[in-house]
Parts: sequence; C-alpha cells; structure tokens
Amino acid sequence: MEKKYKILVTNDDGIDSPGIFALASAMSQLGEVVVAAPDRQQSAVGHALTVARPLRVTKVKRNGALFGYAIDGTPSDCVKIALSNLLEEKPDLVVSGINHGQNTAINILYSGTVAAATEGMLAGVPSIAISVASHDTSVPMDAAAEYALIIAGKLLESKLKPNFLLNVNVPAIPKENILGIKVAKHSSSYWKDTYEMRLDPFGRKYYWFAGEYYLESEDDIETDDAALAKGYVTITPVHFDFTKYDVLTQLKHFEV
Ligand code: MN
Repeated sequence: MEKKYKILVTNDDGIDSPGIFALASAMSQLGEVVVAAPDRQQSAVGHALTVARPLRVTKVKRNGALFGYAIDGTPSDCVKIALSNLLEEKPDLVVSGINHGQNTAINILYSGTVAAATEGMLAGVPSIAISVASHDTSVPMDAAAEYALIIAGKLLESKLKPNFLLNVNVPAIPKENILGIKVAKHSSSYWKDTYEMRLDPFGRKYYWFAGEYYLESEDDIETDDAALAKGYVTITPVHFDFTKYDVLTQLKHFEV
C-alpha cells in the first residue's frame, strides 16, 4: 500500500505499553506515524484535562530510533498537544490503543483510550479507539494490530464525515479463532461497584476498586459485549450529544 497518510497514535496505558508499540507498527504500513502518549498508566481517567500545572513533553527512543513523545498528562492532553504543537499539519487519522482491557458499554465513559479518540473526533479527524479484551499485557497483539490496520484502511477510504469515532474491541483469542468483524451498538452492561477495604502498615483503612463487570443482554449479538464474547471484533460508532431531547420538550414549561 502506498504510504500516503499521516497518523497520530496515542493510548491511555502509557507510551511503554506493548499495545501502543503494536499499533504504531501496524499504522506505519498506512503512512507516517507520530506517537504522542502519556508517560505512565492513565487508564480510566476519562476525558480529563490537565489545567493546573504545566505539561512536559519528552522524546522517547525505542530500538535506537525516535518512537514518540511521552507527555506527563492525560490521553486527551496528549491529543490536544500533538494536534496543536507537535504535528506540522492535521493528521488524516487518530488511533488510540491498543488498550489492554475491553472498552465496551459503560467503559466508553471511563476510558482514556476512547477519550483520546473523542478528542481526535472533536478536532474533525477520523478517529479510532481500539482495545483487546484482556488486561494481561503479555497477551498477543497481532490480531488486534491486524484488525486495526484493516479498519483504519476502511475508515480512511470511506470519506465519512468525521463526526463520530469508531470504538473497536478485539477478543483476546488466537487470530484464527476470530469470527470476523461485527458492527454493533454498545450494550448496557455496567460495573457492580465494590471497594475492597484493607489496612495499611499503620493500621489505617484504605480502599481499592474491585468492581465486577455485570453483563447485560448477553445473548444480544447486536451488542458489543455479546458479539465480543462470541469471538467477533466489534465496531461501535460513537458520538456525544448530551441533550435529553424528550425531557427538553417536557421542560419547556420551565421557561419564564
Ligand atoms: Mn487502558
């Protein structure tokens, strides 16, 4: 394939994560890649921005060559700085991932991976968030990287107006067992919150999130969680419109 696109690669697991290395390698087949990612783990920070302190950008080498820019901020900070200061021109694509852990359903809200792609979307750039359904960082990334490349190619060729992002989830199973790509809505699965209470060495209580992901609509293959569990790579087009339209109409009588 002709190397014609400029692609910004980011994530929320940090620039040292195996997932971003696999993603950057895959995307380099489509064109010129710039990596700008948090300098540390930033999972579940959502769309947070750093506003009360300065941000530092550090060049990171891998195998003796420049790999990318490490930023001591959130995934959204990374995309904003990259678009405004690090890239010479607007990229053709923003890709965030490959995240370790699925970003289905409600996780879309918590995810820094998805937030980074959202930031790309807000800048009018076609954007993809991609996650593999395992928190084990030693899980092979080849299938997810391959699907990232396929889906990125399709999105770039589609010429769709970039007022959405693609949220992609890949099952953590061997490539040959993946059933294909399924375009699906997100499910209504949610976290049953539990905070484990323990004692620190000084006998003081502390709490650690130990929530359990509760699957809804497990048999509805039209949802991300169900299709992913069955072995499909899922694509959910995501957009954000926070207005609750039916209540908007019902509230009209509040107007004075
Ligand atoms: Mn993450």
